[in-house]
Amino acid sequence: MTFVTRFAPSPTGYLHIGHAFSAVLAHDQARAVDGRFLLRVEDIDHTRCRPEFVGAIVTDLAALGLSWDGPIWRQAERMQTYRSVLDDLKARELVYPCFCTRRQVAEASPGNGFDGLIYGGTCARLGPSQVDARLAEGAVPAWRLRLHHALSLTGDVIWQDQEAGVQRWQGEGLGDVVIARRDIGTSYHLAVTVDDAAQNISHVIRGKDLFHQTPVHVLLQMLLDLPRPRYLHHRLIQDGMGRKLSKSEGVRSLRDIFTDGTDAGSLVGHLRSMIAGASPWDSV
Ligand code: GLU
Repeated sequence: MTFVTRFAPSPTGYLHIGHAFSAVLAHDQARAVDGRFLLRVEDIDHTRCRPEFVGAIVTDLAALGLSWDGPIWRQAERMQTYRSVLDDLKARELVYPCFCTRRQVAEASPGNGFDGLIYGGTCARLGPSQVDARLAEGAVPAWRLRLHHALSLTGDVIWQDQEAGVQRWQGEGLGDVVIARRDIGTSYHLAVTVDDAAQNISHVIRGKDLFHQTPVHVLLQMLLDLPRPRYLHHRLIQDGMGRKLSKSEGVRSLRDIFTDGTDAGSLVGHLRSMIAGASPWDSV
């Protein structure tokens, strides 16, 4: 099997050290086995992504000395593909339209799950005439996965993380996740699953913050008859204050780190020394 992995940042801000760790890890794993390392820009969310951050991703990765294979994929250019996969899921009644506002979702939620409030299923109970009436009023729905119906077709989702081992998922912690947001017409789940297959990704390497999203991707792979890559969810790098890094916490970007005098070579050397302790693939 050819080893193909990817780095797939969303251009919603400048890359930080957590991104650099992920990119160096994926890059080095690919290079070590003569595989391929792809760069995919996950820019479906036009409300948050900005063109200058796309340019910055390219510049910052080059500054880290990383090279990628083939052209850069831009998800914003693939919306038609995501739409046709959504149409297929609609035709198979695996998704349903949801008209709930955030507030209605909160009011009917049974509680918090892995990724915020679990959806209470209000719109899953709408009849066809109620849906038609809402659409006729001009309401634009999100589309949610009929999770338990989907699982009744596929059986439990069993997948393997390179570090955490075999996982079995029966739908807990997530509920009827959004497969297409009303404002962008797709979702991270749909786009990432479709693109990992379209790019023949054999090994997905990403942070543990996405660990609980992976069973949704595996479920979609099963429903859409797509190949199933192997997964490694790596640890999240901590900043000096011991907090997990994320853009929303306003941690220092790579640019700031370079401006403050750390050169890219020593940063990458430091990251590689941390990676040396990470568990490798048992076999590729
Ligand atoms: N685009 C996602 C992010 O920036 C990562 C997606 C992935 O690696 O699956 O958090």
